[in-house]
Amino acid sequence: MGGVVIVGAGHGGSQLAVSLRQEGYENPIVLICDEPEYPYHRPPLSKAFLKGADDSLQPLRGEAIYVNNAIDYRPGKRVERIDAAARFCIVDGEAIAFDKLVLATGAVPRRPTVKGDDLDGVFALRTATDARRIKSAMATARNVVIVGGGFIGLEIAATMAAAGKGVTVLEIGERLLARAVSPLISTHVLARLAGAGVDVWFGTASAEFLGEGTVNAVRTHSGDEISADMVVVGIGADPDVALAVEAGIAVDGGIVVDAQMQTSAEGVFAIGDCARFPHWQLDRSIRLESVQNATDQARHLAGVIAGKHQEPYTAVPWFWSDIADMKLQMVGLSMDADDHVVAGDPVEGAFAVYHFRQGRLIAIDSVNRPADHMLGRKMIAAGYTPAPQEISDGTVGASFKRW
Ligand code: FAD
Repeated sequence: MGGVVIVGAGHGGSQLAVSLRQEGYENPIVLICDEPEYPYHRPPLSKAFLKGADDSLQPLRGEAIYVNNAIDYRPGKRVERIDAAARFCIVDGEAIAFDKLVLATGAVPRRPTVKGDDLDGVFALRTATDARRIKSAMATARNVVIVGGGFIGLEIAATMAAAGKGVTVLEIGERLLARAVSPLISTHVLARLAGAGVDVWFGTASAEFLGEGTVNAVRTHSGDEISADMVVVGIGADPDVALAVEAGIAVDGGIVVDAQMQTSAEGVFAIGDCARFPHWQLDRSIRLESVQNATDQARHLAGVIAGKHQEPYTAVPWFWSDIADMKLQMVGLSMDADDHVVAGDPVEGAFAVYHFRQGRLIAIDSVNRPADHMLGRKMIAAGYTPAPQEISDGTVGASFKRW
């Protein structure tokens, strides 16, 4: 009988392989990924990679770690099918048996179903291959349209504007980063981007990408045409659930797992961007797309598979983004908040929004205030709620220490 097969060697899959060994798991580990590289940090693809002259990827860990830990890493291979009941999967026509299989397949960028989506010069960013293509097109592009005002789109918009391109962002909603941050932060980010020369159109979607073979303009739903020799679509990503669906595993906006990351099929687990899990802070299941979520779920599951614990997963979620000179950091989940207190001053470019629900601190969004973020991680994990006065006068840290 095989050991563990991990499908996908992104942040979750790679962490799981290493954590399994750290937890003392001794059976075979096969780590299979359809990307050709050794596992690398994905966030820099929309940040340092596009900015810098250096085209190298940041490896998640050195190659030696896979060899030294007897992790059978198979890059450039796609798992085509899994048979959960008979416990094998098919890779390149070969059947690989497993005792446990973990789906760490990540997410796939959403594409608008509009005419011209297949033109050269229209990109979405998920992988190193995508990033290399975007960087190469960026070298000669003069006018860039970014479809979607989310983190990835805005990171790219800021980089393109700093490189002297004309940049237009089309956002279908009424504010930037609407799903992730408070309106105060959206307004601040908009002002900074506008100051950097980025033109943001709200309430606007792309209706068609125009051009003969290569894109030269974007037509909006309202009929405007914006000249563009390059388009980057950043309208979110869908969980990669293809294998799970085909195997008859329950899927509902992500691969459905319990608090130990187990899917509806015994012996099959899912972690990271592809998994929808019951969240301890909310009364419902959610899916999160972040490095923290993928790596913490991997570490948690390693303990479950190695027989070290059967605890539910309860990590505090956090996320970051670098847009122009702004370091945005989010901890906790603010969507159910009913009250907010601001620390610092947006005018000075550094502030944090503390979110409360029924009097309890549940989340903090911050711009250039890393101390609030780091303290927030500890406070939310501990269930500590500071008084609003302490937040505004900056003494939260002292009171938390005394607590
Ligand atoms: P992934 O890292 O996507 O790995 C999944 C892997 O599985 C992929 O390599 C995929 O090709 C492979 N795969 C899928 N199906 C198969 C198959 N059938 N067989 C073999 N292999 C398969 N998060 C942050 O917290 N902060 C950031 O600043 C940030 N910036 C980001 C910037 C960009 C450009 C992108 C794309 C993401 C960013 N994220 C950021 C999100 C973060 O990278 C993801 O949440 C994280 O990578 C999720 O890890 P994962 O292991 O679930 O999936």
